Amino acid sequence: MALSGIQIYKMLPQTNCKECGFPTCLAFSMKLAAKQVELDDCPYVTEESKEQLAESSAPPIRLVTLAGPDRETAAGNEVVLFRHEKKFFNRPGVFVRVVDTEDTAAITEKVAAASAYTVDYVGIDLNLDGIAVEGASGDPAAFAAAVGAAREATGLPFMLVSDDPAVMEAGWKAVEGEKPLLMGANSSNWEAMVDLAKQAEAPLGVVGETLEELAELTQKIQEAGVEDMVLQPAPTAMGASLAMQTQIRRLALKNFRPLGYPTVAFASDSGDPAKEATLAAHAICKYAGFVVVDSFAPEFVYPILVLRENIYTDPQKPIQVLPAVYEINDPKPSDPVLVTTNFSITYFSVANEVEGSGLPAWLVVTDAEGMSVLTAWAAGKFDAEVIAKAVKEFGVGDKVEKKVIVLPGHTAVLSGELEEELPGWDVKVGPREAVDLPGYLKTVLA
Ligand code: SF4
Repeated sequence: MALSGIQIYKMLPQTNCKECGFPTCLAFSMKLAAKQVELDDCPYVTEESKEQLAESSAPPIRLVTLAGPDRETAAGNEVVLFRHEKKFFNRPGVFVRVVDTEDTAAITEKVAAASAYTVDYVGIDLNLDGIAVEGASGDPAAFAAAVGAAREATGLPFMLVSDDPAVMEAGWKAVEGEKPLLMGANSSNWEAMVDLAKQAEAPLGVVGETLEELAELTQKIQEAGVEDMVLQPAPTAMGASLAMQTQIRRLALKNFRPLGYPTVAFASDSGDPAKEATLAAHAICKYAGFVVVDSFAPEFVYPILVLRENIYTDPQKPIQVLPAVYEINDPKPSDPVLVTTNFSITYFSVANEVEGSGLPAWLVVTDAEGMSVLTAWAAGKFDAEVIAKAVKEFGVGDKVEKKVIVLPGHTAVLSGELEEELPGWDVKVGPREAVDLPGYLKTVLA
């Protein structure tokens, strides 16, 4: 039963010491009741109070982790319906499905390709997170062989999919010691599936056509001793899928514990790549913890992974690159120094234009808290003092002999001050847009 802020307050030390980052214990207790802070943020809660507060402070959606030999992926721990309220914590794991009726060579080829897939997206490596192996044959030996073949081709976490306990047992034993998701408990097999999940110490995937069925099953399974579960709402239409995922998140955030688990969406079941892509996008937007797709091709998974990256980026924290001096096209001491901020899109706009031109340059990236050039300048985070400090801190003066530094065109007003801050440097004003940098470097600085 969730506690109110006032009930929580009565169990806190009430000293208002502020170490939790809030001015009063009451303010902290209100945030704790709203699941916006962790109980551990207060170092002075007694053990007795901790026990009483444990349920109230637990995240409304349980954190469930799957592990393979090389990687882990987690879902859950989410505390909001909309990311602007705080942020989303765990990106949905995207799993590629293989089926045990395919031949072994086809399985290993698909798994190896999915496992090796990586693509750079504004400095972030986008990858797939796991493999779902489905036991469609109904044959334990065939399923175990498919799981083994897939394991030879990847170290990613697995989701084992079957509603037949004998088939599931054979698959799990092929990867014993790992932590796959055992996907397929339902109202007719749940007791046998619980036994397997307990033996494997692995999370259990629970399938239900309605919210009532799911809630009833999770309560029985929890009473039988399995805590880590993943819910598969199994509606028959796309609209119903979106509605059920949303209802589960809403009810979980209202502390309805029987639905307080991450969900999985099988976009792979659609049988049509266009519909599959739409279902995967649905699931990423609202609110799956794991998404299973059948199709694997770079052009299919790229937009899904980019969508996921954009939805799960903290809206209060711009994507940033590390402040540093970057060497583009192997610059020599005679080459110019360019300056920009550490907002990743700004950095990549500048770096890509210069790199594409083939002309060498040193690129100084200042710490502007992830803001673009104009925003940072307006906020006082990109001025002559900041630029000069970065030039000195990164030892740029020791790398170059001509000492020509180029300001972004929008900040021409800084040139006089920068000359004062960097005596001996020739301060120039570059173009306003990154796209004009190659021409500028070729003509003005040639
Ligand atoms: S750290 Fe604990 S005792 Fe101190 S103000 Fe916060 S809640 Fe109160």
